[in-house]
Amino acid sequence: MFLDYDGTLTPIVDRPEDAVLSEGMRDAVRRLAERATVCVVSGRDRPVVAQWIGIDGLVVAGSHGFDLGDHHDRALRREAAAGFEDLLCTVTDRLRTEVEPVQGAVVEPKRFSVAVHYRLVAPHEHQYVKAVVDTLLADHPELLKMTPGKMVYEIQPKVDWDKGKAVQYLCHALGVESDEFVRVYLGDDITDEDAFRALKGALQGPPGGARPGSGIGIVVADLSDPEQAGRSTAADFMLESTGEVQRFLNTLAR
Ligand SMILES: [Mg+2]
Repeated sequence: MFLDYDGTLTPIVDRPEDAVLSEGMRDAVRRLAERATVCVVSGRDRPVVAQWIGIDGLVVAGSHGFDLGDHHDRALRREAAAGFEDLLCTVTDRLRTEVEPVQGAVVEPKRFSVAVHYRLVAPHEHQYVKAVVDTLLADHPELLKMTPGKMVYEIQPKVDWDKGKAVQYLCHALGVESDEFVRVYLGDDITDEDAFRALKGALQGPPGGARPGSGIGIVVADLSDPEQAGRSTAADFMLESTGEVQRFLNTLAR
């Protein structure tokens, strides 16, 4: 079971630091982890996610899958974006100077990326925030890329790695590539689409990584939300809310 964190296990919140896992959801994940291998895949830093979930024995893929590992099996350790730390510091400094003065803007430096949250920024200033991000990317076209999310721009090292490649790599590392296993991925955001496609076998595996295999993608989306309406997805099924996710995980755990 691959589980995204924000928007899948916790509701989307205005401030990233408020996305706390409920006791009910924690219990559902804990019980599921007794029955199946559970990996949490998140855009957040791996140690942060691991600490917030607070369940031993889970595999955690942080930084959109750039940083994989658990505290027991070091073989899973893979830091796909090492060597970009200085550049990300420079990017963070610039964003703090140019974007953070905008009311409501939150610059969140992470280990392998920098996130610019604009959910609380007045609509007439959205264009300014985007322009600063675009200029930064234009200054480092070979080294940086931007992944849009839900009212957030995620600036990342330009390496060929995403949640889909992370899932393929993890399937291989955990030995669950064969048809004996059912691989399921739950996620809500644009970055999760890479994982849905990877499970469908639509992407080439990384060298030495998992062969493309079959799996089940489940998108968490509320189509009555204007931000979500009309989105297209590579997932096979849909759950409408984190409440439905919790029911689904509890049912599977039973
Ligand atoms: Mg998410």
